[in-house]
Amino acid sequence: MSDTAKVELLAITPNAERLIEEAGRTCYLSFDKMADDSHKRFIRMIIKNGHHSVLEHASATFRITGGSRSFTHQIVRHRMASFSQQSQRYVDEHDFHIVIPPSIQGNPEALEVFNGLINSSRDAYAKLKAMDIRKEDARFVLPNAVTSEIVVSANFREWRHIMDVRTEKGAQWEIRDICSQILAVLAQHAPTVFEDMAQ
Ligand SMILES: Cc1cc2nc3c(=O)[nH]c(=O)nc-3n(C[C@H](O)[C@H](O)[C@H](O)COP(=O)(O)OP(=O)(O)OC[C@H]3O[C@@H](n4cnc5c(N)ncnc54)[C@H](O)[C@@H]3O)c2cc1C
Repeated sequence: MSDTAKVELLAITPNAERLIEEAGRTCYLSFDKMADDSHKRFIRMIIKNGHHSVLEHASATFRITGGSRSFTHQIVRHRMASFSQQSQRYVDEHDFHIVIPPSIQGNPEALEVFNGLINSSRDAYAKLKAMDIRKEDARFVLPNAVTSEIVVSANFREWRHIMDVRTEKGAQWEIRDICSQILAVLAQHAPTVFEDMAQ
């Protein structure tokens, strides 16, 4: 079965932009300048000046489903974020779902090659399990196309960095698509922090 990736916001710092302003103003003891809308100007100023550590006071956590292991292998390279991912050692993958890249989906000949591999991988996994091979070893025959659920937490400074490198044109299509979904949610909740990145 083929999946489409979805992101779900699990948690985000309440009043994130006000918190960033309040924390950042500690540097200047300029709390007297706080007003209804002052956080916007303040956040634009710290981003422009490269005072990005102040953004670390706010964070957000997302659950991502329907992404492939190719995607998760890329996102977990971001060392300042935290991850909890579905384990192929503990979760049985006999009924695995897959992601089909659009370039393959749109090419009948390529799709036939792709489906052939997926079917033999599914078959090999089932046969190994029937031989009492443990899940942690049977998984060696699973393809990168297999979906994997993951929860990712990061502070706003790290989310900005991830968005910067993963939503640009040079990024691979699947991580770009998933990160664009995350960016849209972040921009809804913290519009000033992410306004220069939102498409
Ligand atoms: C288009 C693209 C193609 C890629 N291709 C490949 C590839 O072919 N092969 C491959 O192996 N990887 C590849 N990567 C992954 C890339 O090399 C990084 O591992 C990944 O993007 C994480 O980025 P990062 O290290 O900047 O950020 P994070 O790990 O998210 O860290 C955030 C920031 O914290 C700071 N930081 C974190 N750790 C350290 C540290 N130890 N020392 C100093 N500063 C630190 C840096 O400023 C860093 O930018 C690719 C990434 C992209 C976006």
